Amino acid sequence: MIFRALKYEKYTEKLCQRLTEFQNNFRAKYDIDSYANWFYNQSTETLRLYSDDKEVYFRYIPIGTFSRNTNTWMWAWANEDSVEPRKFRTLKVKRFGEKKKYQNLTNAHFAGNEFTGWEFTAVAFDIIGGIGTYRVICEHLEIYFLLTKQITKQEVEKIENGLIECGVHGKLRKAFICQHLNTESKTGFEEAFETYPGMELDGEDDFQAWCSECEKVRIKTGGWNEESMAFAKIKLVCEKCYFDIKEMNLNERMH
Ligand SMILES: [Zn+2]
Ligand SMILES: [Zn+2]
Repeated sequence: MIFRALKYEKYTEKLCQRLTEFQNNFRAKYDIDSYANWFYNQSTETLRLYSDDKEVYFRYIPIGTFSRNTNTWMWAWANEDSVEPRKFRTLKVKRFGEKKKYQNLTNAHFAGNEFTGWEFTAVAFDIIGGIGTYRVICEHLEIYFLLTKQITKQEVEKIENGLIECGVHGKLRKAFICQHLNTESKTGFEEAFETYPGMELDGEDDFQAWCSECEKVRIKTGGWNEESMAFAKIKLVCEKCYFDIKEMNLNERMH
């Protein structure tokens, strides 16, 4: 165990050095320190740095948070309060930790100190990759981001347009379901393609699901057409609602 701990220490030490060098270049290249304010948006996974006369946007992956109250680190994949779809990318770090038997990388929560956040950020940066990293401090919470690319305001708006304001869950990605699907009763759950919570969708793909009755009509009428669409009366929900309905249907399938 001691040998393993030493090995881990050496590993992270090297990565922290590497990140420090990388960050210096990153800060210089984007003139990061010249912005007076920051704002991050979980729904679009974007970080905006701005001053009165300028602004810059980055796409981010949340890495984790460090609480100065409890001195604990929490990996983003374990954070049930955050809605960022790409938080599950940090599971790549967990899988690496499992292979190497580094417990700090596999446990959801971990007691740490003032260096913990940057240490894990360096690890995530090495394993997941990115153009730089950023930390914001909200009251007692240090929040660490992996920045994946710079994006334009127009691109942010485009992501924003793909979101829906859900009365229950807030602003999340859109999902399409038939009028019969609901969170109360089991209706069957047919999907356009295999999905999982937080998955990234390519270009024109959307989350789409319908009930068993709709599936029967769809097959009978030879696919999606005027008749089957009229029966389905597709409606919009947020992605969290979508996966709540999916989970409910799958869990009760055994009855
Ligand atoms: Zn239906
Ligand atoms: Zn919802």
